[in-house]
Amino acid sequence: MAYPYLFTPIDINGMELKNRIVMTAMHLGYTPEGKVTDRLIDFYALRAKGGVGLIIVGGCVIDEYGGMSSMISIHDEQYVPGLKKLVDAVKGNGAKIAAQLYQAGRYTHSAMIGGRKPFSASAVRSRLTGETPRALDIEEIPGVQDRFVEAADRAKRAGFDAVEVLGSAGYLISQFLSPVTNKREDRYGGLLENRMRFGVEVMEKVRNAVGPDYPIIVRLAGNDFMEGGCTNVEAGIFAEALEKAGVDLFNITGGWHETRVPQLTMNVPRGAYVYLAQGIKARVKKPVLASNRINDPEMAEEILRSGEADMVTIARGLLTDPGLPRKAQEGSGHLIYHCIACNQGCFDEIFSLRPATCLVNPMAGREGEVSVAPAKKAKKVLVIGGGVAGMKAACVGAERGHNVSLVEQTDRLGGQILLNRLVPGREEMATTAGDLARNLENLGVKIMLNKRADAAFVKEMEPDAIVVATGARPVRPEMSGVEMDHVVQAWDVLDGKRGVGRRVVVVGGNAVGLETALYLARIGTLSPEILHFLVTNHAESMETVSELLSRGSKEVTVIEMIRKAGKDIGLSTRWTIMAELRRLSVTIMTGTTAVAITKEGLEIEKEDGKGFLPADSVVLAVGSSAENALLNELEGLAPEIYAIGDAKSPRKAMEAIREGFEVGITI
Ligand code: SF4
Repeated sequence: MAYPYLFTPIDINGMELKNRIVMTAMHLGYTPEGKVTDRLIDFYALRAKGGVGLIIVGGCVIDEYGGMSSMISIHDEQYVPGLKKLVDAVKGNGAKIAAQLYQAGRYTHSAMIGGRKPFSASAVRSRLTGETPRALDIEEIPGVQDRFVEAADRAKRAGFDAVEVLGSAGYLISQFLSPVTNKREDRYGGLLENRMRFGVEVMEKVRNAVGPDYPIIVRLAGNDFMEGGCTNVEAGIFAEALEKAGVDLFNITGGWHETRVPQLTMNVPRGAYVYLAQGIKARVKKPVLASNRINDPEMAEEILRSGEADMVTIARGLLTDPGLPRKAQEGSGHLIYHCIACNQGCFDEIFSLRPATCLVNPMAGREGEVSVAPAKKAKKVLVIGGGVAGMKAACVGAERGHNVSLVEQTDRLGGQILLNRLVPGREEMATTAGDLARNLENLGVKIMLNKRADAAFVKEMEPDAIVVATGARPVRPEMSGVEMDHVVQAWDVLDGKRGVGRRVVVVGGNAVGLETALYLARIGTLSPEILHFLVTNHAESMETVSELLSRGSKEVTVIEMIRKAGKDIGLSTRWTIMAELRRLSVTIMTGTTAVAITKEGLEIEKEDGKGFLPADSVVLAVGSSAENALLNELEGLAPEIYAIGDAKSPRKAMEAIREGFEVGITI
C-alpha cells in the first residue's frame, strides 16, 4: 500500500478517521454574512471527496466580539441549519468534520465588530490591528468562557464530529497565557499557573458540556516566537494541563501573527515546525498533529514513520489539489499539484478582504461555478509556449479530451517561473512547473522542445485552436551606457547565464529586482550544510557563525523610482523579503532614478539632487513587455486563436495560470 502510515485509520475518542490527513481551519471569505453558503459547501464537499480524513472548518466565531463578519458564525442558533448542511455535505462525501471555535481577542479590528472595542486579558496594544483592547473584568470572564461552551453545544447539535478550541496564534486563549499580553494581577494573571487558568477552564467547561465521549481538539502554538512570550517549555506545561482538562487531540502550530519569525511563507522550509509537535508529543499521551508547510504525502509519511507526530495537517495543499489524499493512496502522488506557499491567492486575497483562491488552482472557491467537463467535440489544439500559462491551458484542454500539442522554443518547460530556482526562499515557485509537466505527460500531451513555432509550422500542424502563450521579454531601458558589457538583465542573472562583479547596483525595486538582490547578497554566505557542520563541531563561535550567515561576497544596492520597493509583492510575503534584504545589508534607495550608466557605475537622480553609485555590474530589472509578435502572423490559420498570460500582457503567475485554465475550459 502506498503510504501505509498516512493511510492507517486512527480513533480519536470514538471518532474513526480513515487516514491521518487533516485539513486544518482556514479563513476563506466565502461566508460574507457569517452564514454557510453554497460556495463554502461546494468547496469543502470537493475536499471531502478527495479523500481527506478530517476537515476542521473555521474559525467559527463564538461571539460578537471575536472575529470578522465574513467568517463562519456559530454564535447564534440562526446559524445552525446552515452548519448542518455543511456537515451533511462533508460527511456525505466520506470525511469527518470538526468546527474550530474562534475568539480573536485583541486581534479583532474594532471596525469589524461595529466599532466596539475588542477585549483581551489586558489592555496591551496589538501590532496586528494597531489598536489597544480593553481588559476583561474578572466578573466578565465566566461569560466569555460560556460562549465557547454554547458554541461547542451548537456544533455538536449541528452534527459536527468534533470541536477544536483555538488556543494558538495569539488569539484570546494565548493572550491570557502569554506574559506579553497578560498583565493581570488577579488569579488569571502573574504565574504561569494563573495565566493558564482561562484556557484550562474553557476546556473543562466545554468537556462538561459535550460529555466524555465527544472529541475535543485544541490548536496550540508550540512556541509563540514572541520576545518575552511563551516558549516550548510553557507550551508543554499548558498542553499537559489541557490534557487533564479533557483534550483528545493536539494540533500544534508555530507562533503568533505578530511574530517576526515567518510561519507560512515560502521561505519557511517544508516541515520546519514539526519539531514543535514532537516537543508536545513528548509531554502528552493523546495524539498530536504536526502543522505548517507540509504539502506532500512523501514528507507526511516520513513524519509519521519517524514518530515525530501522529497525524499531519495539510490545508493550503488541499486548496491547491483537493484530490491530494486520493492521488497519494492510489499511487499517483506524482500528479499532485503542490501548494508552493506563495500566499498570493489565499492569504493575500483574504488580507485584502477578498475571498480566497489559489495561484496553482484557479478553480479554488469556484467549485460550483466552473468545471473541467468533457469537450463536446475533440479538437486539435496547438499551444505555443511552455510557461505556466501554456502548460495549464494544455493540461485542461487535454483533460477535456482535446488532442493537444505544446511547442516550446527552449529546452525546458516552465518559462519565467523557473527564474525563482536560485532565489533563496523562493525556490518552491518552480515546483509548479514540475507538477504541470508531469501532468502534461500523464495526459498524453505531445511536447516539442527546442522548436520555434512560425506560420509555416502552424500551417503544417493544421490546428483547430491555437493558444499563444509565448510569454514576455525583459525591457531594456533607453539609457546611455545600457549596451555596455557590465550591464546585465536580471532574468539572465537569475537564470545562471550571467555572473556579476563585487559591487552591484540593481535598477528596479520590483519583485524581480528584490529577488535578484536577495540571490546576489546570499552568494558567499554559509550554506545550510556548512552551517550544520560548523555548529555541530563547535568550529566557530555563534557570533562568527551569525556573521558568516549575513555577510556575502557582494555589495548590493537596489534603486527604485517610486517611494516603496516591492510594491508588487503580496502583503504576507513582502515583509519577509525586506527583512532578509536588511539582514544581508542590501541597500535599498527609493525615490531614485537611474540616469546613465558609465564604466565606473551608475549616475542617479534623487529628490535632493544627483548622485553616483560606483558599480562593477549594473543589473536591469525594469519590467517586461509581451512577446507576441507571432500573433499577427497566425491570423486566419485556425478558427480559434487565443493569447494568454504574459503574451497578452505581462503580469504574475497567478493571472497566467488562471488564463490558461479559462482557455482550457473554453476551447
Ligand atoms: Fe498555496 Fe499559493 Fe495556492 Fe495559497 S495561493 S494555497 S499558498 S499555492
